[in-house]
Amino acid sequence: MSGFNFFISYDVYNFATNIKREFSKTEKKIAKLKDTAEKDHLTGANNRRTFDKYLEEIYKESQINNEPFFVVFFDIDHFKKFNDTYGHEAGDKVLKIFAQTINKNIRQNSDVFFRYGGEEFVLVSSNHIRNSLQEARFLTKKLKDAVEKIRIPDLPKITCSMGVGFFDSGKSKEEILKEADNNVYLAKENGRNRIYVTKDIVVV
Ligand code: GH3
Ligand code: MG
Ligand code: MG
Repeated sequence: MSGFNFFISYDVYNFATNIKREFSKTEKKIAKLKDTAEKDHLTGANNRRTFDKYLEEIYKESQINNEPFFVVFFDIDHFKKFNDTYGHEAGDKVLKIFAQTINKNIRQNSDVFFRYGGEEFVLVSSNHIRNSLQEARFLTKKLKDAVEKIRIPDLPKITCSMGVGFFDSGKSKEEILKEADNNVYLAKENGRNRIYVTKDIVVV
């Protein structure tokens, strides 16, 4: 009788172990699929689709709770020339290291970084300790300094232009993005390698 019990228990144990193993494999597959859908495969940053979704969510939340956030657009300077001079592979390496550098220098719980497209990236920053304007000045300067410190063997330093757009309850999502875009444009027009936090606040 006890032998019979032993075999049943053994079978049950095997069965449970197999299920556990299969479950873990499926979980890994789901995580991989999620990654493929949400991340940019070159840089590992969140992709444009994830950005659109995230912006929609944070915009709604901010309107309900009246909590501020801001977006920062980044556009690497003269990147076409960089590719033309050093090759596309070198350009890819820069994009990867650029994304890693920004990701390392942001708060993991409340700053989210995305590849917007090509050599353009965007950051959404929320849950601020200081007021948003101070926070934007502080954070963008920190990120600009981090980009300036990037060194890649045999390649020159890169710079980027940045522009900020602030949430406020009277603005649409599109207006916030337009504001950030206009500020990048001002940064480009006025010499590149600078940050327009607002049209009047410039960080060089
Ligand atoms: P600006 O300072 O005005 O931003 O000039 P720019 O040359 O950076 O801007 P432009 O829009 O003329 O060129 C962007 C370049 O970015 C062109 C394209 O080859 C390069 N690029 C976009 N995506 C990738 C990519 O995935 N890999 C590489 N290596 N290059 C890319
Ligand atoms: Mg561009
Ligand atoms: Mg560019």
